[in-house]
Amino acid sequence: MEQTWVDELREFIAIPSVSADPAHQDDVRRAAEWVRDFVKRAGGEAELVRMGERDLVIGDIPANANGAKAPTVMIYGHFDVQPPAPLELWESPPFELAERDGWYYARGIADDKGQLFTLLKAAQLLREQNALPVNIRVVSDGEEEIGGHSVVDFLEADERGADVCIIFDGGMTRAEQPEFGLATRGLVAFHLKVKTGERDMHSGYYGGAALNAIHVLMQGLSAVTARDGLLPDQLRIGRTALSQLEVDSLKSLPNGWEILDEAGATPLDGKAAEDFYDRTWAEPSLDVNGIRGGKPEFVNTTLIVAAEARFTIRLAPGQDPETIAAGVEKLIRGAVPDSAEVELIRENSAAPGVFSADSPAIQLGMEAFKRATGVKPLLVRVGGTLPIYPALAAKGIPTIGTGFALRESNVHSPNERLRVEDIDRAVAAASELYRSLAALG
Ligand SMILES: [Zn+2]
Repeated sequence: MEQTWVDELREFIAIPSVSADPAHQDDVRRAAEWVRDFVKRAGGEAELVRMGERDLVIGDIPANANGAKAPTVMIYGHFDVQPPAPLELWESPPFELAERDGWYYARGIADDKGQLFTLLKAAQLLREQNALPVNIRVVSDGEEEIGGHSVVDFLEADERGADVCIIFDGGMTRAEQPEFGLATRGLVAFHLKVKTGERDMHSGYYGGAALNAIHVLMQGLSAVTARDGLLPDQLRIGRTALSQLEVDSLKSLPNGWEILDEAGATPLDGKAAEDFYDRTWAEPSLDVNGIRGGKPEFVNTTLIVAAEARFTIRLAPGQDPETIAAGVEKLIRGAVPDSAEVELIRENSAAPGVFSADSPAIQLGMEAFKRATGVKPLLVRVGGTLPIYPALAAKGIPTIGTGFALRESNVHSPNERLRVEDIDRAVAAASELYRSLAALG
């Protein structure tokens, strides 16, 4: 990497743009200004756009020729980072770019400032060489790490759109084997509260005759959790099976036994390892995230009259949050006694996102990546939830979601790192994408 790039990257990394910490609010803004100024230096225009409590950077780097007729490529990345704690586990200060053994170390180098930098750098270089064949639209936010909504709100209100969007905020399961994420799971969160009386009772006087709230909670939760590895049919409505291209990708990925074993996980059932990718990419899943009731810390004989749980469902690509939420309500109501006071509160939700592998943008992108990195990307899904995916899908903007972080990149952990060579590789891949996507015009 050229020295000027390293200096620029070092400067960007040095801004501690920790969105979760109010003490760093000004730093998040400084990081936004840094992105804005970079776009301007690259020959574009950009401004901070206030959405809710934070700023987005919205900008344009125009094509060198063809003006409005050149296709528009939106690029997205986030300039906020996770808190660096625990600091004592870092081998070098988190906000100082350090190079050791072929890796760059710093908070945000992989997630996502380093990767966002490569998308911007590639656009700047092509523009300088008078060879930028597409209009670049920069959309960048500073609240990705705290689940912010500003970029989704922006996209929903935006009428200009783009022919394609590129996101470098992900990674590769195996080094040297790039992946395009074609789908994400959605999320619906619930709070279940049960009340069966005014005060806890003596189980010797009332046990066997009075309703225990913890039992009701258990009945409700049992009605929606997986049996034989799968959720009840009502909660599986709408899911889209893996495409043949996605199934083909599985041969090049670590198998489910390996992944579960590495995490020290106990398989959910006998088929969980074998069906790992089906389960995490093409099926919804439900996890109870916490339950409260009674006094498990003491020996006691109380009949408990209040209990609560929080649970979340990861929605499979293709599923609709409303339909699944209605299914949850029905299953729980059908399983608990009418006499209990049962409140089911729906909390946040996000739709799943799916893009078609057949779209010309994805196909051009795969060829471009192959030319730049020597390897054709695998088409994969993401088991997690990224609200920008459904927002882009809803606007009909095909999206190339990829990146260069590795499993050893320590994303969200101390000593976050990215291979030095991958900065150059990412810039080369982004340039090749911009050149190839000109064919969308
Ligand atoms: Zn990220």
